[in-house]
Amino acid sequence: MSPVAAQELKQYQGNVKPVWCPGCGDFSVLTATYQALAELKVDPARAVIASGIGCSGRFPAYVNAYGFHGVHGRVLPLATGMKIANPELTVMAVGGDGDGLAIGGGHFAHACRRNLDITYVMLDNQIYGLTKGQPSPTTMPALVEYKKSHQPYGIIEDRINPVSMALAYGATFVARGYSGKVGLVLDLIKQGIQHKGFSFVHILSPCVTFYNTYEFFRAHTVAMPAEHEEGSRLDAIQLAQVPGKFYLGVFYRHEGPDLSERISMVKQKAGREDLASIAAAYV
Ligand code: SF4
Repeated sequence: MSPVAAQELKQYQGNVKPVWCPGCGDFSVLTATYQALAELKVDPARAVIASGIGCSGRFPAYVNAYGFHGVHGRVLPLATGMKIANPELTVMAVGGDGDGLAIGGGHFAHACRRNLDITYVMLDNQIYGLTKGQPSPTTMPALVEYKKSHQPYGIIEDRINPVSMALAYGATFVARGYSGKVGLVLDLIKQGIQHKGFSFVHILSPCVTFYNTYEFFRAHTVAMPAEHEEGSRLDAIQLAQVPGKFYLGVFYRHEGPDLSERISMVKQKAGREDLASIAAAYV
């Protein structure tokens, strides 16, 4: 990490003390987020973090910025509304795999295709940690043993691959980090915030209490091949699909018009700078 004065970091740290279990992967992401906001000199008064439900849903309370802890699975609609209402804001959406891929799964596709300039950080612990370890859409039955009292015969469903989904749905920045490599997480969050368009930053973030995958990911994560072309969606999908291997780094990046620009075009075509004036006409 590049050095940022402790005083600068402090301005992004909220007053609420994290209650995550010691060793939870989410701590790395929180540390990286403070550092990323500080290095990019994001004004806390111009930043907002939306979250869903789950252990990672507590994220906004720990960051000194605006925050909204929403209902289950609705982190992306919240972030979308915030950014459309005020395009000047730096908007981050933070949520887990259960929140974003089960109950909220339908929103993921539309956030990717809309390409609104928000950064979606998914803290993927492959489990429902807050409710004591039920399998989530990303639990890896074929890769890591999973046997719990509420699932005595293991898992009979295959898992979702979030990176492949984001790529298939048209996200314009797709990357993967791992909580055990906080410097990389910092770098990816920074790049996600800087990217103009929808950024999906998938973080493998182990749950030490209910599904400790640190050892597994230490052994199965590998750096993105140096020759990988970030502009090739097909190559990115192929890399995301390699069995038993979790590539870390940027899979795909493409700059294109984001939804805010398209909304501005509509405003201009409608001959009104401010859609509020249209609404006012109906009051
Ligand atoms: Fe983290 Fe798991 Fe504890 Fe939740 S239950 S805070 S995900 S270690």
